[in-house]
Amino acid sequence: MKIQGIEYEDLAERYGTPSYVYDGNVLAGTITELCEVLHPALEVFFSLKSNPNISVFRVLHQGGARAEVSSLVELRTALEAGAAPGDIIFLGPGKSEEELVACLEAGIYAVVVESFDELDRLEKLAEARNVRQRVLLRVNPAVAISGSRLTMGGKPRQFGIDEEQVLGAGDLPSRYQYADVAGIHVYMGTRILDPEVLGKNTRYVFELADRVVRHTGIRLDAVDIGGGMGVAYFEGESDLDLTEVAKELNPLIEEFAVGHPGTRLILESGRFLAARAGVYVLRVRYTKQSMGESFAVADGGTHHHMAAVGIGSFVKRNFPSVLLSKDSADRNAPDAAGRWTVTGPLCTPNDTLLKQVGLPALEAGDLLGVERSGAYGPSASPGLFLSHGYPAEVLVMDGVAHLVRSRDEPDDLLRKQHLFDQTRTDDLQGS
Ligand SMILES: *Cc1c(COP(=O)(O)O)cnc(C)c1O
Repeated sequence: MKIQGIEYEDLAERYGTPSYVYDGNVLAGTITELCEVLHPALEVFFSLKSNPNISVFRVLHQGGARAEVSSLVELRTALEAGAAPGDIIFLGPGKSEEELVACLEAGIYAVVVESFDELDRLEKLAEARNVRQRVLLRVNPAVAISGSRLTMGGKPRQFGIDEEQVLGAGDLPSRYQYADVAGIHVYMGTRILDPEVLGKNTRYVFELADRVVRHTGIRLDAVDIGGGMGVAYFEGESDLDLTEVAKELNPLIEEFAVGHPGTRLILESGRFLAARAGVYVLRVRYTKQSMGESFAVADGGTHHHMAAVGIGSFVKRNFPSVLLSKDSADRNAPDAAGRWTVTGPLCTPNDTLLKQVGLPALEAGDLLGVERSGAYGPSASPGLFLSHGYPAEVLVMDGVAHLVRSRDEPDDLLRKQHLFDQTRTDDLQGS
């Protein structure tokens, strides 16, 4: 099996396994297509938390994506990849003072605040530096709109400020001089595969934005409609039809843009932009039978790909997978014996990447790929379990492979540990 003319086997030999391989041309194609079908007034911001690799973001940024970041490192990643401060927003429920100050110093477009307490803190920090910082209020919607796999509204949450509290907050511009409240942000859910749900969410956010303006007197420099566009992972799911998405969203965008000239309209997307471009590449170490079931024990697992393993979900469902070995074309018939269970090196029965999938008869040394793995992979997994650390990441762009993150080596991981020394006198002591 090849990617842009390069054998996966050659990538595995050069960069080792387990590793993540990203198809840069797929990344570029996805952002380009999304920007082309959506109303031009809607700007797409990439959620770096879905894939914080700097080169992955660089490709998306070159294709037109702005940046939505949630930590100091993500902020620096976005800036170093070339995003203009004016195209960056920072959100997250527990921002540190250091992070807030970094936002002020970089002069990013907006800080999305998630509580009034945080807004007060930002006001003080901005006043101390005599700068004005645009702020979007993240609103926790009063209702949930069904259709996403993780709904956000209608529940007590650490995210955002309850709709009721925002509407009851009174005259905000007179209370905050340095924190320049000028817009709202709403994130209604993730893994949405129904265009109608996206339309309903967007209608709700626009209607809410007008209500917030009427109640609080803020300017509306920006409305962030969230996003949460999904991709198909499992049997029975299908990818969003972008033509349908455009049909739902574009008339709403058009109407709102005409009524609110000068208001920036923001769509956030992580999974949709990144997931399909990534393959988790792992090598089978051993095969064995246990009580009639065929196991392939591989070098990768939960520690790099918790989503595929399905930790936290009730039923084990399999991500799409494929045999990547050079001779895979000759071995495409699924094993007559049927089904393979692919597990990793961790000492827990949960470390099962694929449960009874139809793959050709496997043997030690075979190369496997878990597809659609470009979002919420290693950075969203317990990478330090059994001290394996981060895998290598490789970006293939225009037929050339680039190492875009080195794997953690044992020395990298050991360096952070300190053997305690009882002869030291400068350590903190209790009385
Ligand atoms: C996680 C997150 C996103 C990205 O969600 P996807 O489903 O990956 O597109 C966007 N906005 C907020 C506020 C988030 O928390």
